[in-house]
Amino acid sequence: MAYDDDNIFAKILRGELPCQKVYEDDHSFAFLDIMPRADGHTLVIPKAKAQNMFDIAPGDLGHLIACVHKLAPIVRDAMGAEGILIQQFNEAAAGQMVFHIHFHIVPRWAGEQLRPPAQTMEDDDVLAAHGEKIRAQIASA
Ligand code: 5GP
Repeated sequence: MAYDDDNIFAKILRGELPCQKVYEDDHSFAFLDIMPRADGHTLVIPKAKAQNMFDIAPGDLGHLIACVHKLAPIVRDAMGAEGILIQQFNEAAAGQMVFHIHFHIVPRWAGEQLRPPAQTMEDDDVLAAHGEKIRAQIASA
C-alpha cells in the first residue's frame, strides 16, 4: 500500500483540518490526540511522508525521535505527570489506525488507568487548556 496523501494527519499537516498544535520545527509537528488516552496525550509526526517504521527513511526517523525526546519531558512537566508512556504502532495488525507515522506521548500517573484507544472525543475547551499548558512549558524551557 502506498502513502495516502489524504490521510488525516497529512491533512492536519497541510492545515486542511484543525488541531491543537503544540510544537513545530523544520522536520516535525506535534499536536494533541483528539481522543486522548490520558490528559495531555500528544502525537508527534514527521513532515516527511511515511506510513510507518517500514518505509520511513533513517534520517527522517532520527529527526522524529529527537523531537519525541525533546517533547516527552516537556509534556510530563506541563501536565504534572509522574511518567510518560511512548507508543508507536506499525500496520493495522499492530493497532495502527492512521497511516502517517506517529509517536504517542502519553502522560501517566500511578494508579490511573489509561482510557481506551480512539473511543471518546475530548471537549475542545479541555484540549485547548492542555495545549496551552504544553505550549507555555515549551516557551519557558
Ligand atoms: P494509531 O494509528 O497509533 O493507532 O493512533 C492514531 C491516533 O490518532 C489515535 O490515538 C486517535 O485518537 C488519533 N486521531 C484520530 N483521528 C484524529 C484527528 O482527526 N485528530 C487528532 N488530533 N487525533 C486523531
